[in-house]
Amino acid sequence: MNFFRDNSDLQFHFREGTAWDRFVPLWEEGFRFADGPRTLAEARELYEACLHEVGEYAAKEIAPRAREIDEQGVSFEGGEVVHPPGLLRNIEGLRKLGAMAVSLPRELGGLNFPVTVGATLLEILSRACTNTLLLHVFYQATAVMVLRFGTKDQVERWVRPLAEGALSGSVAMTEPDAGSDVGNLSMTATPEGDRWRLTGRKQFITNGCGDVCVVLARSEPGSKGLDGLSLFVAPRRENGRDNFRVARPERKFVIRGSATCELAFDGSCAEILGPRGAGFAEILTFMNEARIAVAIQGLGLSQAALVAARDYAEKRVQMGRPIARHEMVADMLFDMEAEVAALRALILRCAAMQDRILGLERQAQASAGELATLKRALRERTPLVKWFGAERTLWITRTAVQIHGGYGVVQEYDVERHYRNALILPIYEGTSQIQALMSLKDQLKWAFEGPWRLAGGPVRVEAPPDTLGDALREMAGEYNRGFRAVLTESVGFSGMLRGLMNRTSEPDRERLGYALLHAERLAAMLAYTRAAEALVAHGAASKTHRALAERFVHRSLPLVHLHAEIVRSGDRSTLERLRG
Ligand SMILES: Cc1cc2nc3c(=O)[nH]c(=O)nc-3n(C[C@H](O)[C@H](O)[C@H](O)COP(=O)(O)OP(=O)(O)OC[C@H]3O[C@@H](n4cnc5c(N)ncnc54)[C@H](O)[C@@H]3O)c2cc1C
Repeated sequence: MNFFRDNSDLQFHFREGTAWDRFVPLWEEGFRFADGPRTLAEARELYEACLHEVGEYAAKEIAPRAREIDEQGVSFEGGEVVHPPGLLRNIEGLRKLGAMAVSLPRELGGLNFPVTVGATLLEILSRACTNTLLLHVFYQATAVMVLRFGTKDQVERWVRPLAEGALSGSVAMTEPDAGSDVGNLSMTATPEGDRWRLTGRKQFITNGCGDVCVVLARSEPGSKGLDGLSLFVAPRRENGRDNFRVARPERKFVIRGSATCELAFDGSCAEILGPRGAGFAEILTFMNEARIAVAIQGLGLSQAALVAARDYAEKRVQMGRPIARHEMVADMLFDMEAEVAALRALILRCAAMQDRILGLERQAQASAGELATLKRALRERTPLVKWFGAERTLWITRTAVQIHGGYGVVQEYDVERHYRNALILPIYEGTSQIQALMSLKDQLKWAFEGPWRLAGGPVRVEAPPDTLGDALREMAGEYNRGFRAVLTESVGFSGMLRGLMNRTSEPDRERLGYALLHAERLAAMLAYTRAAEALVAHGAASKTHRALAERFVHRSLPLVHLHAEIVRSGDRSTLERLRG
């Protein structure tokens, strides 16, 4: 009954798989704080104690309430959003454990725990009840935005209450006509004295009924696209009255315990966060962290589905043996296990990169070269981990339903809920297609910045000198060949040459039709490659790790080949249809 202790792969990552010494001393600034740990060992003891407590609370209290929270859903009474009572009890329990905003600084009510510890905590919560995770993350996520861009006074007023769980928050970008297309945002912000007035509507805002909302709005009249946007912080109530209106929450079949709100701002009061016009750059920091958080949400759901499927398959007997002993079911279970391990390895690799970056940034003399390399590696992986976490969680949870047969679609079994909830993952925080576009755009930019990258292939992998390493190199090679193929098909060989000579000029959108057509296939190829790379890095740890890495790589390589074949096929039928 402990979601930290009962997970052998999480235990492995915590005990052996994480290079804590690479970032904990940076986070603790050489262990110089009187109220912090004095050594690396002490820091790890603190992390373990917290994860142990949360793991136990999640298994014993949160998980048993998850079905009821889903069944009750969010309601709307007397013009107010009402959360399921069990959800509020879960949040109250986590608040009492002091686990609301573990990565915030201690002096602001956090614990100064690295992102890696936070990621493990979120995985545990999502496994227990993904609705609870979703409300929980917006306490820290909202606070981080104020901490990062707010004035000292704003930090004093908002960050500590959010970190302590006294106030809850939300982050609002999406509008009715600006979903994937953030540049189409139309909410206006008008200065008035030292404050601002916001006018417009926000759509689909998670916990938009919370006490404080970080809002992206257009502050520069006449601006277009991603320019002229600024970030604001708006209290839900001002002088005891509603500052903006919260409409009825959406009625959904996914994450039913999470309030998804439409917000109407009509000259609502707000304060600007950070410099005028820097809104898009600021919100990007949130989006990048939120994308990894969605992958973690997926990991928790995947782990829950894996455990449920394994347990069920051991007990359910058909044709004289447990279904887990039938070849096809055993095959599904092995794939599920390998995929979960690969997703966890990729997420924790990204978290460790984030930790090293944040740690180095705290140091005045951090090496600019190392920071740039790490930031580029993390930036490359961010859309991939979101894509992989979302898409593979859908497959894993669906397979858990399949293994349960008819009982899989019955509400008394949790797997139908996991599958339904997984359906939101490829949609919010940028759809899977948008992640694919981000990945393609970055690869194009880097390729055209340095001719050698295009010639040699933009992607390299860390691979051991053995057969697993050979398969990994083959996956990366397939991506590189696929990437070159879409470029040649899009802009032709002469276009590539022009791009190479004129380093910064990316080809324009109209000419990139073939690359855009295959963006998601390319993203899938690279996501499998990076997940495999992260898993293979632990392949030498034990026989189990080696077996999981082999399984994942041997199942992923043919998929990468399949995508590559389609990408290189030159089939333009969709583009021809588009031209009509
Ligand atoms: C439950 C829930 C919670 C949410 N929480 C928040 C929140 O807290 N804060 C917030 O700001 N937003 C939130 N959102 C909004 C969410 O981020 C958007 O729904 C999402 O970005 C997609 O936007 P859209 O719904 O307008 O779809 P659209 O952008 O209209 O996309 C529709 C389809 O077209 C595809 N598409 C669009 N453009 C392209 C393109 N250029 N190339 C290829 N395909 C394309 C998409 O992939 C998708 O399949 C939430 C949404 C939901 C459902």
